[in-house]
Amino acid sequence: MNGCRLTFLGTGTSQGIPVVGCDCMVCNSPDPHDRRLRASAFVEYGGKNILVDCGPDFRTQMLRAGIKKLDAILLTHAHMDHIGGLDDTRALQWGRGWEPHIWCEQRVLDALKKHFYYAFSDQLYPGVATWHFHIIDDKPFSIDGVEIVPIRVMHGKLPILGFRFGNTAYITDMSSIESSEEEKLKGLDAITVNCVLQVPHHSHFSLPQAVEFAQRIGARESYLTHLSHYLPEHKKMERLLPPHIHPAYDGLTINCGRPEKRCPCNWKRFLDRTRAYLRRNDAPALTWHEPEPGH
Ligand SMILES: [Zn+2]
Ligand SMILES: [Zn+2]
Ligand SMILES: [Zn+2]
Repeated sequence: MNGCRLTFLGTGTSQGIPVVGCDCMVCNSPDPHDRRLRASAFVEYGGKNILVDCGPDFRTQMLRAGIKKLDAILLTHAHMDHIGGLDDTRALQWGRGWEPHIWCEQRVLDALKKHFYYAFSDQLYPGVATWHFHIIDDKPFSIDGVEIVPIRVMHGKLPILGFRFGNTAYITDMSSIESSEEEKLKGLDAITVNCVLQVPHHSHFSLPQAVEFAQRIGARESYLTHLSHYLPEHKKMERLLPPHIHPAYDGLTINCGRPEKRCPCNWKRFLDRTRAYLRRNDAPALTWHEPEPGH
């Protein structure tokens, strides 16, 4: 059971692209590949529909990708760009009769109790989100018999998780990883890894670090996510990167590591939905800003 289909629902860093109020070249790019919602992935594996991270764009992402059913939500960590959409999972409760099941670490659950205090109170407001939690650590776990391997990585000083689904691995918000954990990443068809800047960052891989990591792991194909407007436009990134390392983009589906040939009607519908959602962003003059150190 190694086959895995992964759709990138969002490939942007915590602010997304375009960034509110920004006039840079990337934020003003007319190329839809440069429109990036907050990082999240939809994984079809072992007959299960699995969402990895549920950021503030969850609702838009589910509607845009036409996803109607989830079996599990996995959380990498509790930063707002990865959990901010959890309240909207209520729609699955009401519309689809599914009470969301969430797999996460104890420290993530502790943080959720603070962020979403009202969903954990003794006196629940009628209609409030009802979540079922499954606490995991860095050991393999199963969703109804479907095994998933967590990968322990560091996000600055915060230990977080990536996940391996058969021969596809998804890691975001990583700044370092122990070599013992890299052992879990052998023989991959595809790996996804994050980078935010071309220069070093305290809690994320830079572009050179991500490329070096991808080459060391040696998956058949590697994809970059959690990208910021401080990196070049998508097309330039594609030209810059070595073969087999690609910038991911919202709506990209990979099947056993390979980009899936997309039905043009579906892709057009996806782009139309993206344009409609982003129509409020006018395109003023194009300017380029240099990355600020420490951003
Ligand atoms: Zn993030
Ligand atoms: Zn910008
Ligand atoms: Zn984070």
